[in-house]
Amino acid sequence: MNDKDETTVADDIAAGSLKTFAIETRGDSFSNTLQERIKGDLLAYHLTYDETEPDIVISVGGDGTLLQAFHRYSYCLDHTAFVGVHTGHLGFYADWTAEEVKKLVDCIAGESFNIVEYPLLRVTVSYSDKNEQKTYLALNECTIRSSEGLLVADLMIKGEKFESFRGDGLCFSTPTGSTAYNKGLAGAIVHPSLASIQLTEIASINNRVFRTLGSPLILPKHHSCQVKPVNEDRFIVTVDHLSTLHEKVELIESSVAEEKVRFARFRPFPFWRRVRDSFIG
Ligand code: NAP
Repeated sequence: MNDKDETTVADDIAAGSLKTFAIETRGDSFSNTLQERIKGDLLAYHLTYDETEPDIVISVGGDGTLLQAFHRYSYCLDHTAFVGVHTGHLGFYADWTAEEVKKLVDCIAGESFNIVEYPLLRVTVSYSDKNEQKTYLALNECTIRSSEGLLVADLMIKGEKFESFRGDGLCFSTPTGSTAYNKGLAGAIVHPSLASIQLTEIASINNRVFRTLGSPLILPKHHSCQVKPVNEDRFIVTVDHLSTLHEKVELIESSVAEEKVRFARFRPFPFWRRVRDSFIG
């Protein structure tokens, strides 16, 4: 089974390769019940529940639950695969339905599968008062806002000034995040086989004095983008669902990460079909 629609890194990983698992749940009673059922069924297949080094993480809930799972297990991305069960509407990361969990459990325990890798966004915050940096990985996107309201910052591409930005904020998204907040900002939907990041503006001010490009920008893997404060240096940086206030910010750099997220594919899940089913119906 090779899903030619997506970039697979390993075809037909042998059945029985998945020995340890963990489950992330949205926390509602239906998702929790499903979690217990999946756990019991996989233990009966002699897989081991291991929240430290799972071979596979099963997310039960929605795309938001998969984001939580991704951040919980971001330290073991190189050898942990994810799979999502949705207990609400069809998700971009969660393609299995609650009715299909028996089939999913059988697949995890006894089917060969593919690994699909998706690009991630790396965000590095540097400070003017200390010689340290904070680095984050985003599965969907990072947004940058000023804590004081209007974000006033210079935007640079590969270290060279591109424009002076004034507005509510800036959003850098991954290809799989392009269907999330980025889409709400009129960004383009990008196929996840394109290792890239997309920059979209959040309500920029454009008049005779201030001018920004206005269009979303898609940057390739070898380009980075820097946001540099002009005066105010207290920024709110949101990485997926997590927000942090950063003070005395000198620079925030965004680029395609070296790391990737790995999804276990037991059947094809074509990206454009997901887009059509989610947004067109
Ligand atoms: P939330 O506010 O509870 O959920 C936001 C919605 O975004 C949920 O319906 C979620 O799907 C959906 N979503 C998440 N990732 C997606 C993706 N890659 N493609 C399409 N839809 C996606 O927040 P949350 O559950 O903690 O998720 C945080 C994410 O919400 C952020 O990364 C951001 O992208 C997104 N968001 C979007 C908007 C917007 O579109 N205007 C505004 C705020 C936040 P599920 O219902 O399946 O979980």
